[in-house]
Amino acid sequence: MAKKLARKTSRPAPRGSRSAKPVSKPARRASGAGSRESTVARRGGKYVYFFGRKTDGNGSMKPLLGGKGANLAEMCRIGLPVPPGFTITTEVCTYYYANKRTYPPTLRKEMESGVAALEQQTGKKFGDLKNPLLVSVRSGARDSMPGMMDTILNLGLNDQTVDALATKTGNARFAWDCYRRFVQMYGDVVLGVQKRPDEDHEPFETVIEQLKHERYHQDIEDTKLTVDDLKELVVRFKGLIKDRAGKQFPSSPWDQLLGAVGAVFGSWMNDRAIVYRRKYNIPTEWGTAVNVQAMVYGNTGENSGSGVAFTRNPANGVKEFYGEFLINAQGEDVVAGVRTPEPVADLKKAMPKAYAELERIRQTLEKHFKDVQDFEFTIEDGVVYMLQTRNGKRTAMAALKFSIDMQKEKLIDWKTAIMRNPADQLEQLLAPVFDLAEVAKAKAIASGLPAGPGAASGKIYLNAERAVAAADKGEKVLLVRIETSPEDLRGMIAAEGILTARGGVSSHAALVARQMGKVCVCGAAAVDVDYQARTVTVDGRSYKEGDWMSIDGTIGKVYAGQVKTAPSEIVAGLIEGNEEAKKTEKFRNFQQLMKWCADATRMSVRTNADTPEQTANAVAFGAVGIGLTRTEHMFFEGDRIDAMREMILAETLEDRKAALAKLLPYQRDDFAGIFRALKGYPATIRFLDPPLHEFLPHTKEQQAELAKSIGVPAARIHQRVQGLHEFNPMLGFRGCRLGIGYPEISAMQARAVFEAAAIVQKEGIKVRPEIMIPLVAFKKELDLQIEVVHQAAREVQSEQKVKLNYMVGTMIEIPRGALTADEIAQSAEFFSFGTNDLTQTGLGMSRDDSGSFLPHYQELEIVKKNPFATIDDTGVGQLVAIAVTKGRATRPNLKLGICGEHGGDPASIQFFEKVGLDYVSCSPYRVPVARLAAAQAALSTKGGD
Ligand code: PEP
Ligand code: MG
Repeated sequence: MAKKLARKTSRPAPRGSRSAKPVSKPARRASGAGSRESTVARRGGKYVYFFGRKTDGNGSMKPLLGGKGANLAEMCRIGLPVPPGFTITTEVCTYYYANKRTYPPTLRKEMESGVAALEQQTGKKFGDLKNPLLVSVRSGARDSMPGMMDTILNLGLNDQTVDALATKTGNARFAWDCYRRFVQMYGDVVLGVQKRPDEDHEPFETVIEQLKHERYHQDIEDTKLTVDDLKELVVRFKGLIKDRAGKQFPSSPWDQLLGAVGAVFGSWMNDRAIVYRRKYNIPTEWGTAVNVQAMVYGNTGENSGSGVAFTRNPANGVKEFYGEFLINAQGEDVVAGVRTPEPVADLKKAMPKAYAELERIRQTLEKHFKDVQDFEFTIEDGVVYMLQTRNGKRTAMAALKFSIDMQKEKLIDWKTAIMRNPADQLEQLLAPVFDLAEVAKAKAIASGLPAGPGAASGKIYLNAERAVAAADKGEKVLLVRIETSPEDLRGMIAAEGILTARGGVSSHAALVARQMGKVCVCGAAAVDVDYQARTVTVDGRSYKEGDWMSIDGTIGKVYAGQVKTAPSEIVAGLIEGNEEAKKTEKFRNFQQLMKWCADATRMSVRTNADTPEQTANAVAFGAVGIGLTRTEHMFFEGDRIDAMREMILAETLEDRKAALAKLLPYQRDDFAGIFRALKGYPATIRFLDPPLHEFLPHTKEQQAELAKSIGVPAARIHQRVQGLHEFNPMLGFRGCRLGIGYPEISAMQARAVFEAAAIVQKEGIKVRPEIMIPLVAFKKELDLQIEVVHQAAREVQSEQKVKLNYMVGTMIEIPRGALTADEIAQSAEFFSFGTNDLTQTGLGMSRDDSGSFLPHYQELEIVKKNPFATIDDTGVGQLVAIAVTKGRATRPNLKLGICGEHGGDPASIQFFEKVGLDYVSCSPYRVPVARLAAAQAALSTKGGD
């Protein structure tokens, strides 16, 4: 297929652009696990780690204990109040999948010891009819995967132990509330009683709604349900389970426990976990751990509650205790977004003692972990317990502020501050905000919680499938839900922004949106979502699916219609020179980070730019030169294309030279503009690269039009187009092969570069052209082209009476070029790796056609990442490494860069640092990302110094 000329100059795909892949059946993707079969079993290791009075693990053991298990152990070690428990290791998960979903033979015994330890510490007994021990069973992967896997609470209850719990606590309502929660969760998670495709609500929730309406004729709060209501719910839930799952609810606590552990391991392979892992590149083989922990109860009454809090604000980075809680509730209620919780600050009034304890914990966590923590707590009868802590997910804006503030507070040093900013999120900071003038005119119809900053406008869709379908058609989509659940993940990925009617800032919608850098407004209570009618009603006015709405996730506002967006303060400050923008904290923090990056980096960052404007933007973002100007892009503007076509159609050298003479002034002016915008930085200018047929008109009408405008018969144009047809144009007459076939083209381009250089140099601006010959496989190819370049340079220097400082080098973008780099470096003064073509030719995989099979390859994990986005370091990377070594062996001061799309990809930049390139080059808006990634690569390669 054709090499698409306009392909890569523009900004990269907007953040959060769709990357959801079709989700395959678990059976298909489970393959591969079997290869590690039984290694764990043979090792006969320890599978269960205690925490509590005796703690086996610590915070550094995340690969084995998962994030949750390791940090529970760490919190025990630093004396924080953690209910005792034990962690079943991730190795058991690996074993489970490698051995047809069975467990290591010694696991049961280790779990029995674990339960016995819990019994001893709590004074309760599992399944006891006097004082029953209840446990929670939770997943815990190495990297947290919020909401993607399963959790079961209140495990150990049955028709007998529920009475024991009621008698022991003197609180029958609490006991039955726990029981109905347990049956509901177990039914959903372990027995698979879940929403069917034709249902909009969870079936258990439907049963609750029905009972409320039968008995109270209205939608009362769950906390108002009586013991009798709860007993009835348990009966109905069990009936629902029998109906839908065809199974009885298990009453033996050990059966319950084993079932729950299996379900958590099973959830590692559920669709949403797979989609999540793929998006965040979490390897399947990591597996999840399972944490079994003694229950503490947030639902014993008004002096109890559950909450989720952050040690600082994860949306905007402000240093404030941030989070929310629900009185008389268990943790799931807060995260699920079923009830909208209260801000954690309100606890100060409601439970001052517990609040003071939480404040103390907040300080302890930051001092110990030296990073912002996201933690879950339960207050049982006034006493605070910690259920989890982890590094808080944050927006790019918050990450930036945290890093700058914590460095000032001396919690971290400046190098750590650099590392705290995820390079692939940095683009969020450049994301647009609403145009102030436009938003003033817009109608604000509702407000909610500002859960994911930025501005988004889109057509509303009320379910994930329709949102994905619309986005696939190219529509801008706003996903509107009452509340989101992990099933909505694909819709969220496809959407520009997410709006929910219920749920707080730590709801699933908020967490996921924040991580993806999606604009999000949560808990906009005035928004009435009707899934059946597919309408959203606000204040009596209805909006249909497909109508426009806009949301501002920085302040939590919802607007009717489409609102124009404006550049972020960083773009406004840097690119537009807006002085107000430069005064903002965001701008100043960004500049501080970029300054640190400049101090830490070894590689420099250049840009791929074809116009003076793109060049100026990139320089404003900190690029120190151009790594690639694709000169062919300049032939498309205005009527230049006609001159180009005339050149291609020419049948004699004279005619071709005449057409080239028309192109020369255009190129010269463009180059002069670029040199001026560069203010003395070097410019790598590549000669014509694509196959010529790409410039010609292909339809009959277009050919007729061209015939008229340049005065040649249409039939001749048709014939020439036919003549230029190639079966494999990407491997055909392109690159330096064109300049070798038609040296006069290269001569014209070289003359244009040097004439422009002479003009700009005479204006007093330093000019450093680096002429780059594409697609070189043989030294001789390069030599022939170098001679043409030198000839033009000699001529122009003598005509203009100037001395020009220039270099000639080549792209390394086909394997032969890489393998013979020692020979090529005899002639080339620099190499720039064209990793787009090097990947294409190295893998024998078309860069334009691989879309039809690559997603499937990624699903099967044949390739972990798209090799055209992230360098295939073990394959194509070897070609780069060989060329570096061989090239430098011949010419020790050979300048080495990369200008393929990988130049803006943080993971690839890490690789380029390792092989010792001098610079990476990427599109202008990715320059800040590349600068950050290059600094981080230097710090991690040098071990921080
Ligand atoms: C490349 O091949 O990596 C490259 C930068 O050139 P182009 O994308 O224009 O082929
Ligand atoms: Mg190329």
